[in-house]
Amino acid sequence: MKNKLTKIYGVLGNPIGHSLSPVMHNAAFNAAGVNALYAAFETSDLKGSIDGMRALGICGMSVTIPFKTSVIPYLDELDSLAERIGAVNTIVNKSGRLKGYNTDGLGAMKALEAKIDLAGKRCVLVGAGGAARGIGFMAREKGMALVVANRSVDRGLALAAFLKCRFIPLERIRETKIDVLIQTTPVGMFPHENASPVPDDMLQEDMTVMDAIYNPLETRLLKNARAKGCTTISGLEMFIHQGAEQFRLWTDLDPDVDLMRTVVKNALEE
Ligand code: NAP
Repeated sequence: MKNKLTKIYGVLGNPIGHSLSPVMHNAAFNAAGVNALYAAFETSDLKGSIDGMRALGICGMSVTIPFKTSVIPYLDELDSLAERIGAVNTIVNKSGRLKGYNTDGLGAMKALEAKIDLAGKRCVLVGAGGAARGIGFMAREKGMALVVANRSVDRGLALAAFLKCRFIPLERIRETKIDVLIQTTPVGMFPHENASPVPDDMLQEDMTVMDAIYNPLETRLLKNARAKGCTTISGLEMFIHQGAEQFRLWTDLDPDVDLMRTVVKNALEE
């Protein structure tokens, strides 16, 4: 039952209507017996929202597009990983002090590590946006040999310089050896499910292919990869693992990850 002790959490973004974070975190709070409520906050006033978080004692916040970088100046403190990545997807409010964290890359690595060993693997990161930055940073920390493949050269080169790795233009992706392909562009996302950012015929059965997209659950890229015999990982796995890390930061408890997966999957299939 919700009462005066109920702790409030939420997600800040714009747009936010399709976010599956509320369904995931509310289920996890209920299952763990935590008296908390998680809401979606769509805003175009970031500073006002963070001031409001402090003023109202909102205990924690997920941060999503387009605020992951712009929120940083409004926080009191950054976790060292978020500082090195330069982006925040989680805020913890400890007695009025707001500390920023980044769990996106950790979530992606947990999803991969559930299927394969990472150290020494040749990993091609398709895309060079916010998701690629966090995932690439953690992939490098895990000892993967990275290559960034991106459509625009400027952005691709900038990310490759940040990650201290090689860049290739997306149209030349065939020229590089791949053990693990991580797809981080929006290409293939609902309602354009028939698109893929990489040619179907470059997939080979010894590859592992992870897509950051979780709607649809199986993108065209993943469908083709599965048909070729590749190991495939949906963006749903990355999403629930980044959420599980957020839950741990907020509550010091381990969430029921299977339940989180089930409720998000059900919501996506509705
Ligand atoms: P972003 O910062 O806007 O970056 C998008 C990237 O995709 C850029 O590198 C861009 O290339 C590339 N791109 C866009 N349209 C393209 C096209 N038609 N062909 C080739 N490349 C294209 O976005 P983001 O925040 O990184 O998010 C990317 C995706 O990751 C989204 O689908 C998001 O939902 C997903 N995501 C999933 C999770 C999860 O938990 N599963 C978490 C975060 C993000 P240019 O540089 O050439 O423009």
